Amino acid sequence: MRASPSPLVARITGASALVAAVVGTAVVVLVVIVSSLRDAATRERHSRDVTAATLRFRQLAIDTETGLRGYIITGDERFLQPLNHARRELPTARARLERLVADDPGQQTRTRKVAALINAYLHDYVDNVIKVIGPVEAQNPDSTSEGKRRTDNIRRLFVDLLAAEDVNAAKRSGSVDRKARLAVWVGAGTLIASVALILLFGAYLARAIARPIRSVALAAGGFAANDFAPRLPEDGPGEVGELERAFNAMARALEQGRSELVDQNRRLQESERHKSELISMVSHEVRTPLSSILGFTQLLLSRDFDPEMRRRYLEIVDGEARRLASLAEDFLDVQLLEEGHLELAQAHLDLDGLLREQVGLFLGHSDKHRSELDVEDGPLAVVGDRDRIAQVIGNLLSNAIKYSPEGGVVEVTASRRNDHIRVTVRDEGIGIGAADREQIFTKFFRGAAAATGIPGTGIGLAVARQIVERHGGEIGFESTPGRGSTFWLELPAAEAAGERRLRAS
Ligand code: ADP
Repeated sequence: MRASPSPLVARITGASALVAAVVGTAVVVLVVIVSSLRDAATRERHSRDVTAATLRFRQLAIDTETGLRGYIITGDERFLQPLNHARRELPTARARLERLVADDPGQQTRTRKVAALINAYLHDYVDNVIKVIGPVEAQNPDSTSEGKRRTDNIRRLFVDLLAAEDVNAAKRSGSVDRKARLAVWVGAGTLIASVALILLFGAYLARAIARPIRSVALAAGGFAANDFAPRLPEDGPGEVGELERAFNAMARALEQGRSELVDQNRRLQESERHKSELISMVSHEVRTPLSSILGFTQLLLSRDFDPEMRRRYLEIVDGEARRLASLAEDFLDVQLLEEGHLELAQAHLDLDGLLREQVGLFLGHSDKHRSELDVEDGPLAVVGDRDRIAQVIGNLLSNAIKYSPEGGVVEVTASRRNDHIRVTVRDEGIGIGAADREQIFTKFFRGAAAATGIPGTGIGLAVARQIVERHGGEIGFESTPGRGSTFWLELPAAEAAGERRLRAS
């Protein structure tokens, strides 16, 4: 299939055709004018030829008259020589004049008339004088006056002939002048129109093609200098418009590509930073319990202690080993969540009992913290994985204790809100600064806490959020730095969770 001719090519072709048509028409008009000018000049020359032939004819007639007059006055026959010569020449001169005026009926009639008068003069008068009456008799007044009358008539007719040809010549030269003037005007007009059209065409090409191409070059130069912001106006004609649109699309793609690269680079740098933070955090988190375990087992192996001391040391070793185990558990959880392999049991469970159990477990041994438990009466049943929900609540409680090193109240509440059960854990600890709020649930993020010396991995809340969300719930917090934090979570109440499963099935 052939592509339809593009508008710009059509426009340029059209404009070129217009210029060519104007110049071509003007040339044709000029050729016509010049050739008719040549015709007029030929006709003017023809008039001059007619005049010359008339003058020659008249001269021969005058020669016959003057020859005759010399003969009459002197009686000398030598005067008849020019007469006879003119008489012999007259038919040729007449024939030439008649040929020249063949296309002009008026002049034709006049020529015939004058030729007839000359003929009559020669036969009726000249021949009579020479052959019949002789020169002496021809001097009488009757004869001379007849001769004069005849020659006067001939002269008058010649005057008419010449005057008529003058009029013809004047007409023809006027026509030549008019045509010459017209040719000059048409030539000048065409030249001006062609120059104007070519200038207009050039201006159009500059505006339609050269200017957009310059903008493209400028913008491309900007790209080379890493500036992808400039965009071109997309109003160019035909292919230029297409070029502008394609260029803008390329600019957008490049800009997006570059910002993606910048993002990717930033993420890479962040992940590099995270990785090294993680390595130092993990080695720190592992080293502390490990050195304590090694220290106490060394002590127990090197000396004999009384059973009570031994038990105390072994309890410390046990506690630290558990800490290591829970660290390993946390890392395992992160991996399970990342790979999407975290499996959740689906069982009915009562949050009331679970909360009491976790509060006892975490706050039962703390001397610095005072626990307050406020659980609403009535069933606070949810459907889910008991161990994982216990893990979430345990994490909130252990954070509440960990991040309030000066002690204080840790308040736990549970209540029903429409079809959700809401649990809150409030502490009076260090709180969370505005700069850290956004990322508190991000894996391995510790924020300002990292600088406090409080141990941690930044894993607990990230895992907690995943667990809560997998249960169809939500988790969040409010906090005032230096005053404390309140973490909350909402899980669908058992009936709602049941309905949800029914709807899903
Ligand atoms: P970890 O406590 O092991 O660092 P978490 O994921 O449990 O990891 O918590 C992430 C971060 O959130 C902590 O490092 C700490 O900065 C902040 N945080 C969590 N709970 C509290 C709290 N109750 N008070 C103050 N900061 C907290």
